[in-house]
Formats: sequence, C-alpha cells, structure tokens
Amino acid sequence: MKHSTHDAPLQTTPLPPSLANINDRVLDDAILKKLVDPEVYYAFARCRATGLPMEKKEANELAKSIREWAQSKGCIGYSHWFSPMRGPVHGEKLETFVGVDFKTDRLIINLTGSELFQTETDGSSFPNGGLRETHQAAAYIGWDTGSPPFVYRQTLYIPSAFVSWTGEALDLKTPLLRANLAVNERGLRFLEHLGDTDATEIVCNVGWEQEFFLIERELYLARPDLVATGRTILGASPFRGQELSTNYFSRLSPRINRYIAEARETMWALGISIHCTHNEVAPAQHEISPIFNLANLAADTNVLAMDVLRDLAFEHELVALFHEKPFAGINGNGKHNNWGLNTDTGVNLFVPGKTEHENRRFIAFVAALLRSVKQHGDLLRCGVSTSGNDHRLGAQEAPPAIITLHLGESMERHMRQVANGGSFAMHGIQHKQIEVSAPVVDIKANKEDRNRTAPFPWCGNRFEFRAVGGNQHIAFPLTMLNAALADSLKHMCEEIESGKEVDEVIRETIRENEGVLFSGNGYARELYDHAEKFGLIHLTSSPEAYQSLTSTKNVTLFGGLGIFNERELAARQVTLQEAYATELHIEARTLLNILQTRIIPVVVEETRKDAESGFSSRLFDEKRRLVEELLSGTDDLASAFEAFPEADSAQAAVYAHDVFKPSMQSVRVLADRLETMVDERLWPLPTYSELLHRHQ
Ligand code: ADP
Ligand code: MG
Repeated sequence: MKHSTHDAPLQTTPLPPSLANINDRVLDDAILKKLVDPEVYYAFARCRATGLPMEKKEANELAKSIREWAQSKGCIGYSHWFSPMRGPVHGEKLETFVGVDFKTDRLIINLTGSELFQTETDGSSFPNGGLRETHQAAAYIGWDTGSPPFVYRQTLYIPSAFVSWTGEALDLKTPLLRANLAVNERGLRFLEHLGDTDATEIVCNVGWEQEFFLIERELYLARPDLVATGRTILGASPFRGQELSTNYFSRLSPRINRYIAEARETMWALGISIHCTHNEVAPAQHEISPIFNLANLAADTNVLAMDVLRDLAFEHELVALFHEKPFAGINGNGKHNNWGLNTDTGVNLFVPGKTEHENRRFIAFVAALLRSVKQHGDLLRCGVSTSGNDHRLGAQEAPPAIITLHLGESMERHMRQVANGGSFAMHGIQHKQIEVSAPVVDIKANKEDRNRTAPFPWCGNRFEFRAVGGNQHIAFPLTMLNAALADSLKHMCEEIESGKEVDEVIRETIRENEGVLFSGNGYARELYDHAEKFGLIHLTSSPEAYQSLTSTKNVTLFGGLGIFNERELAARQVTLQEAYATELHIEARTLLNILQTRIIPVVVEETRKDAESGFSSRLFDEKRRLVEELLSGTDDLASAFEAFPEADSAQAAVYAHDVFKPSMQSVRVLADRLETMVDERLWPLPTYSELLHRHQ
C-alpha cells in the first residue's frame, strides 16, 4: 500500500510505562544539577574533577538533597556499593537514614556529607591475598564520584572504591580507575608526539555483551552441583542440544519475553542503556547488551545488570546462570567487551579517519596495541583466567587462550606496508557496497569482514575483547588490557623522547610485534602453528597464567604505571589462585557427594535388578562394567580429594588443575553414560533435556 504524503501525522500517545521511567532511579548529572543549589553543584563538580574533598557545609547540603531524592523513591537507607577482589558479586552494607539527636535523645532522619563520601568497615573476611590480617583489618570505602548513585529496591547505592588502611586496593574498581588514568596520561603524551595537542583527556569506553542461561528454579534446586558451583558437573547430553542452532536469534517464548521485558525496564530506570536482547546459540541461552559507556561505569552497570537478572529470575521462578560453562557439550557464557578510546575533542582513536594525519594517528595507536598484545599477552590471558573460563578458552565456542589481534586482511596488509616504509595514507581501504537485489537497497558494509574466531578483532571503530568470561567482573580484564596499552604508549613515547623519529618508532613497533596479527581461523590448528612460529605467549591454564602476574616484567610495569605496587600484585595473584583452587575443591567435593549419595546407590541397585531378572544382554554387561569403573573412579577421586594441598595457594591451584580436573572428568564420562542406560524414573537428578527445554 502506498502512503500518501497527506496522511495525518501519527497521534502523539503517552509513552509505554517502561519508556516513561527511563533514568528514574539514577542520580545522574542532569538530575543533580536540578536538585542542588548552583554553588553546591559546582563545588561538587570541582571535587569530582580534582579528587579534593568538598567543604563540610556544602557536602552536607549535597548529602541532604541526595537523601531527599532517594526518600522520594522509597529509600530508608543507603549503602556504599563496592567490588571486593573476590568478584563478580558486589559488596554492600545497609545503613539507614535513621540516627539519634543526642541533645533530645530522639530519632532523626539524616545523611551527612561525610557519610555520603566514605565509610569505614571491618569486612576483614573478604579474600584479600594477605593485604589485611584480621587484627589489622580496617578498610575504607570511598565514593567513586564519576559513577552516579542509584536507587534499587529501597536502597540508595553509592558506587565506591574499597581500599585498606594503607591505601592499597582491596577491590576491582580502584585498579581500573588507576589503569584508566595511566592510559589517559601516556595517551595524551603520545598524541602530542603525533602532533595532536588539543585533547586534554583520553577515555576508555566499553560496551559489554552479557550471555546467560535461564532455567527453571525448581529444577535448579534439585541439582546440588548447580547450587554449589554454578555449573552441572555431570549430566548426559540432551536429546536436542544446539545442533540445529534453532535457538539462535529465535523468538523469545512468552514467559522469557515477560522476564526480559521486566529486566530491561528495570535496567532502563537505573540508567543502563540496554539496547539489544536476543536468544543465543545454546538452548535456554540469552544475551543482553547496553550501549557503550566509560569503562568504570560499564563495569558498574554490568554488575548491576547481573544483579537485576538474578533478582528478577527469582521472582519469575527462574534462575539466571552466568557461569562460563553451565552445561558440557553446548556453548557457555562469554562476555565480549567492546573496547575503544576517545578524546575529549571527539576523536575515536580506533577509527582510521579520512586524512593522512588521521590515518597515521590510527596506525600509531594500533601499533601500540600490537605491542601490548605481543609483549603482554600474559596479562590479557591472566585477565580472563578463571576456573569457569578455562572451559571456554580454546574450545569450539570461544577464542583460544592465545591472544592475537585481528585487523582484517586489507588493514593487516596496510600495516605491514607501513612497517616497511610505506605511506600511512589509506586510500585503498573503503567501505564496501553489497548489492542484494531490488527492492533491497545496496548495503554499506564494514571495511573488513568479521572473524568470530578471533579473540581480539577490530570492528571498524573499536576492538572486541571476546575472551572475557560471562561470570567475570569486567574491571579486572579491563585493568590488564589498559595497563598493557599504557605500557606500550609509555614505551613508544620514551623511544621518541630519546631522539628517534616518530614515524620510525611507529614502523619499528609494527615490525617487532606483527607476529601477533592473525586473520586465520582461530579455532583451527593453524593458530597454534602461527603462535609457535612467532613466539606468541600461550598459557594453557589459569594457574599458569596467574604465575606470570608477578614476573619481574609485570612488577616493573604495574609499579611504573602506578596501578599495583608489588604487594598489591602479589595479593591479586594469591586471591586468584585461592579462588581457582577453592572453586575446583568445591566442585570435587560436590561431585563426590553426588556420586556417593545419589548415583552409586541407583546404579548398583540397577545392576542387582538386571542380574535378578534372569535375562542377559550386551546392555546389562556394559552397565555392570561401567558401574565397576565408576566405583573405582570414585575411589580415585576420593583419594585425590584427601591429598589436596591447601596450605600453598599456587600449589593448590596447580593441583586442582592437574589432579581434580582429569579425575572429575573421567568419572563424569562414566556417570553420563550410565544416565542413558538406567531406569529414568530412578535417576536422582533433573536431566539436561529438562533443564534446557522445560520452561522455554
Ligand atoms: P555484536 O554484533 O558483536 O553482538 P552488539 O551490538 O551486541 O554486537 O554489541 C556491540 C557493542 O559495542 C555495544 O555495546 C556498542 O555500544 C559497543 N560499541 C560500539 N562502538 C563502540 C566504541 N567506539 N567503543 C566501545 N564500544 C563500542
Ligand atoms: Mg559481539
């Protein structure tokens, strides 16, 4: 039907409630400006820019206005909201607005400026890698004024940093803020050498894509492995897995649609710009992503989004699973981090631009990134190393543990030409027009095709760090990435400042590090050959990656950039090792328990009944053989469990990797085969088919 230009304009109708409430629960700058007197607003803006405290009177006024705003949203108290090193869940401690006026002994409603900006806590039980002893436990929580307070479920939350009495970072946010500053400082210096002197700030932007599974709560509760570890540590493949990819971008079922709509609405109200939602490849798997934001805000909103998804799932009788591998044999959860750099003059440093000057600037920053990935691949690997993510990295669904950079063929060729003295200008690299067919208008395609097997591809205006795990707090991988980049920027600046030609430093940096460029299939053998040929760092397991964190190179790097002192770095290492070893220890214990108390009784009884039946068959013989193997495998796992070396975190992590993992895997295979052979009415756990399909 043709539309006439005389058609009446659409009636303006009220907004749907979900759209009417966007930003309602976040105290962003626009609201704050309306809420407080101009002097208070500007005093706060100054404090935010310089990090220097506000005058007491003005701070109290600011706190009063914020409290009144929060009360109008139903709040009775506030909590500093921080991200202890253990990740990924945030920490909070509710304090009410109720106080006492000691002159009258009456209760009052109050929030002072000093309460708003900071609080002191014991909190000594957070894993801290030895930075605090229980007898020296004071820790401080201070508002990250760059991240706005928000109201969630009757509490005013104040996004914060968490540091020890000595000022050492106990959290994931403080190092990220320091790493952002390091990129800003070194990046500006580098820009100056490139002839760009206007910018006064470089910021790092991040857009995350969160994958998760939704399963029936009642079934979740019937699986002790899911409850204790976040993943199924045994379970036979479902009748239908992801073979047909029918879930990918499919329509949301009515029940899941209601859930996602409510989650999106809640997030919009919190100022989280959820833009895209879709079904993922595995059955019961979904993805949401917001529009990018400053790295520390993106880290905060991701944790908050995970909270919302978790909380709402509970209300919908569902459970959201973020673990990197909740189910064997089908895709796990990743969290791609789209990562870019922008200046306050509006320049995106990862866009090639139009002029030769812009092309050169782009190439210079990409050269710095090449060096970062080549020299500090250990840090990028360490940033994505968790017991859960080790199930993904290098498997068929996720980029490998070798970190390479993918630029696309023509850009890669251009970089190599520049390295050998060619011009910086990129005349040849144009947008591509794809002719589809009338009446579909020609499509303007990206300069380069996509490569979904690459751990770190360029997307035309940003890089996508695809190796990050679904259950990770993104602040840590981003800290590693930004630290690696800041180091390369610093290195290149020093080369220039020592008298070398700028262009020669750019060319040399590409030449020395171009081995990290890889545009082939990252899921195939060719990557391993490439890595070997060019001496790329390949750390196959998390414990191996953690070990590299405190190498002399890294102690010097983090110290020099002011991101971690040596004690802080050692503390990270211990915390990561402990978390890894403890997670696997819990998995081994849970598996042993399930085998001993649920599965062995059922399968032994089954073989007894088979024998009694008087029949003989290959099936019965096979079952008996598997039960015998399962019994001996369980004994082996029990012995491995008893020999766990708890005292030393590095040793414990290696042991968990080398001993628990293979031992658990070998019994799992047996139990999974038996699951497909015994009377299904007696099987003591909900099956994969039920978990993945019943509610969808
Ligand atoms: P995909 O097709 O890879 O699944 P999505 O659309 O789900 O991509 O996510 C892309 C993400 O990249 C979004 O969060 C988007 O805001 C973000 N992004 C776009 N441009 C930039 C940029 N310059 N810097 C950082 N992130 C960006
Ligand atoms: Mg993506």
